[in-house]
Amino acid sequence: MINVLMFGPPGSGKGTQSVTLAEKYNLLHLSTGDMLRAELAANTDLGRKMAAIMASGELVPDEVVIDMIAHKIDSTTDKAGFIFDGFPRTVQQAEALQTMLEGRKMKIDMMLVLEVGDTELMDRMKKRALVSGRADDADESVINNRIAVYRAKTEPVIEYGRRAGVCHQVDGVGSIDEIFGRLCNHIETII
Ligand code: AMP
Repeated sequence: MINVLMFGPPGSGKGTQSVTLAEKYNLLHLSTGDMLRAELAANTDLGRKMAAIMASGELVPDEVVIDMIAHKIDSTTDKAGFIFDGFPRTVQQAEALQTMLEGRKMKIDMMLVLEVGDTELMDRMKKRALVSGRADDADESVINNRIAVYRAKTEPVIEYGRRAGVCHQVDGVGSIDEIFGRLCNHIETII
């Protein structure tokens, strides 16, 4: 089993790239953002509780996403591994993931960090807002907050990956196919 963390600020292309990488390498794509939006759409208790946090661009509590991920890992049998998209977003989540994987005789094999500058991110997010239907894409102050939360709380996870010797920085600017090729080159060093 291989475990790949797809990293990068909001709008860096993590979701788009994770979907095609998951297909190519038979990995389960685990997006905590998608899972939370599914809770919202199904109007569950959890969805209702998390709605305001998500609308503001802040992070939901660590335990919520850690439980979701543990449940998915334990209910998957037919895949070559996992690609984590938008998780872990804090050092605490990264530590919890590592412990969770170790308990199941796995590890974090690779962290891919998509690098995109802030001006390009804002441009992409505004374009995405026209098609995604996501409330948190539609408001410029929420987008700014999501980028600020990423820099403050999520970027430190990159240092965690560096110390673990699994961090690979990838240029996230270019065509979707070009970026996909760069990511595949990295993944193919571990399969
Ligand atoms: P995303 O689709 O990954 O941009 O996530 C959308 C929103 O869901 C984020 O702005 C957070 O409010 C919440 N969220 C998604 N993943 C996480 C996570 N790993 N930890 C905390 N909050 C998360």
